[in-house]
Amino acid sequence: MNNIPPVDLARQYKLISTETDLAVLEILSSGRYIGGTVVTDFEKQFAHYINVSECVSCNSGTDALYLALRALNIGKGDEVITSPFTFIATAEVINLVGATPVFVDIEPHTFNLDVDQIEAAITSKTKAIIPVHLFGQAVNMTKVMEIAQQYHLFVIEDCAQATGAEWDGKKVGSIGHIGAFSFFPTKNLGACGDGGAVTTNDPEIAATLKMLSEHGSRVRYYHEAIGVNSRLDSLQAAILQVKLRYLDHWNEQRSLVAERYQHLLSPIGKIQLPQALAGGKHVWNQYTIRLPEHQQGEQLYRNQVREQLQQMGVISMVYYPLPLHLQPVYQYLGYQQGQLPRSEQACQEVLSLPMFPDLTFEEQEQVAYSLKDCLS
Ligand SMILES: *Cc1c(COP(=O)(O)O)cnc(C)c1O
Repeated sequence: MNNIPPVDLARQYKLISTETDLAVLEILSSGRYIGGTVVTDFEKQFAHYINVSECVSCNSGTDALYLALRALNIGKGDEVITSPFTFIATAEVINLVGATPVFVDIEPHTFNLDVDQIEAAITSKTKAIIPVHLFGQAVNMTKVMEIAQQYHLFVIEDCAQATGAEWDGKKVGSIGHIGAFSFFPTKNLGACGDGGAVTTNDPEIAATLKMLSEHGSRVRYYHEAIGVNSRLDSLQAAILQVKLRYLDHWNEQRSLVAERYQHLLSPIGKIQLPQALAGGKHVWNQYTIRLPEHQQGEQLYRNQVREQLQQMGVISMVYYPLPLHLQPVYQYLGYQQGQLPRSEQACQEVLSLPMFPDLTFEEQEQVAYSLKDCLS
């Protein structure tokens, strides 16, 4: 039996190879590899898809978040509230602009920021909230925007794992002041390399984002701010134009895969299956189960199961093994073990199963049988 990988990008490429090859060859023979209408057209299409007026593309999701903070003038002396159960990039950029991350614990059933704990973390220095739509599921943005309005805070949505997800009928990235997207290959809309984008409905913010991403320049060779070089290259824009047309279809397939997992795994018991909140549209970048501790041993129960699964050819992943507030790099903030207990517990229990649009039913059955074997 073949190994079942966590994602299989080659399989997806095969389905769109003719169109993708043509788009790539067109760029190669054009001789224009940076910028051009292929990039601006993609920005327009992506803005239209998210239903915002502005989109500025850039080099990565990390840069998208960084540029968003810079455009809102967040820096030294400011605090930004976010989740400790996310990829490091979300918090790293807060430090990169000179501000301080403040971590708020998560909801156990969605792994997302617990909106009911945000207010207690707000101080006179708080300038923004970065809700992370983790694993493809939207944060309760109604609540986040209410709090932001009340305390005059900016909201930057980290949409890296949730392109196409919705809250209350609105696409993520169109609800807060700025949305930050990643086109890293394994995201729902992935390029064949790095890429990212920032979305907003504010043309002034968009102009500042663009200026900062082009070395702080609006007029070539005149520089008004210390910026960066962050752009989506033409090849990636051409590939993304092709893939954007399939995104809704792929997200539907992911939902189907999630439904089938639900069906196959719920009889097994002993594991907690992920839940999709009513009020949102989940786009399943990850299918993440929890394996509550059953036995005390040297090694985490979850890690044992993961190793056994691997021996049976099922490759699973742990997103994330250590919460950000307990990372060595954030020791200086002084968080203690036990301070954000839900995030800490999630880090010990989560296991992300293979999840990609064209995962077959047979493969999912193999995942389910293997998991059942491990747990019996
Ligand atoms: C992937 C990811 C990022 C960073 O995106 P890159 O394009 O890899 O820089 C940021 N936040 C989250 C939650 C992510 O999953």
